[in-house]
Amino acid sequence: MKKASKNKTITASVIAVIVLLISAIFTFSPKHLWKKIIGSTDPGTVAVSQVQGSEAANQPLSVHYIDVGQGDSTLIRFENYNILIDCAKKAEAQNVYDYLEQLEVDHLDLAIATHPDADHIGGFAELINRVKPDLYLLPQLPDSIKKTQTELTLLNTLRTMKVKTEYAVNAKEYHFGDLILTTYITEQIHEDKNDYSIVTHIRYKNASYLFMGDAGKKVENELMSAGCPLQADVLKAGHHGSSKSTSMKFVKYVLARYCVFSCGLDNEYGHPHSEVLQIMKKQKINCYRTDESGTVVIGTNGNQYSISTEKSAA
Ligand SMILES: [Zn+2]
Repeated sequence: MKKASKNKTITASVIAVIVLLISAIFTFSPKHLWKKIIGSTDPGTVAVSQVQGSEAANQPLSVHYIDVGQGDSTLIRFENYNILIDCAKKAEAQNVYDYLEQLEVDHLDLAIATHPDADHIGGFAELINRVKPDLYLLPQLPDSIKKTQTELTLLNTLRTMKVKTEYAVNAKEYHFGDLILTTYITEQIHEDKNDYSIVTHIRYKNASYLFMGDAGKKVENELMSAGCPLQADVLKAGHHGSSKSTSMKFVKYVLARYCVFSCGLDNEYGHPHSEVLQIMKKQKINCYRTDESGTVVIGTNGNQYSISTEKSAA
């Protein structure tokens, strides 16, 4: 009996010391180390909930560049409005569903499918079954560009679910309270599907963001020549940072302070390309990459920005 109780005391003391050690690590470690400790214990939910509870996410307007590997999905939250641009490839879309669920997003005022590539629309069919958007915007492509199976399945889901669907129109404005969203789209004929990408600009007070989809340099030139007001503090670079998009001329035109690249770690295309990173460096634009930082949230009160990332970049 005596021996057993002595053993119990020893066990209790050992546990107490371990608890003390763990709390000491959490209390005295620098913030980045603390983040890394959390990250290594549970890389998914814990870090994501931190980013979702961050100062950036709690601003009146917050833009969430969700980490979906090689693909795109961006959530715009403003007051009670929720707008989703793209929904990742099917295999990565669970990240989007989970992200929306954790934020308790139960309705979408607008869903924008920039263009019908699988890394942008793959997750939409399932999403629409979960959260029906009030309006679904898509680009109108010429008949010469064949529809993929993913696209046909999605169009079928939109019909079955009776989702209001519209083709994007160049320079059309949508108002969500004090937030103004404008869509831009090429009015020329292209061979590349990417060049039909819906380009989205949002403005709230003095803050502005631009989302390029996978639009290439031809489209950038077309929109610049037409004098489209694309100036924005935050640029989501076209085509995951490919050098087919984002010319120096375009970057100087947009005048962004921040740039976000949505791309997968060690992706087979080498996105973002070094040419584009060089341009950003020359123009002293702060860059964020989902492959390095995980989900990136850039929030604003209409004048100032706050930024939060899921992981600290290496
Ligand atoms: Zn893409």
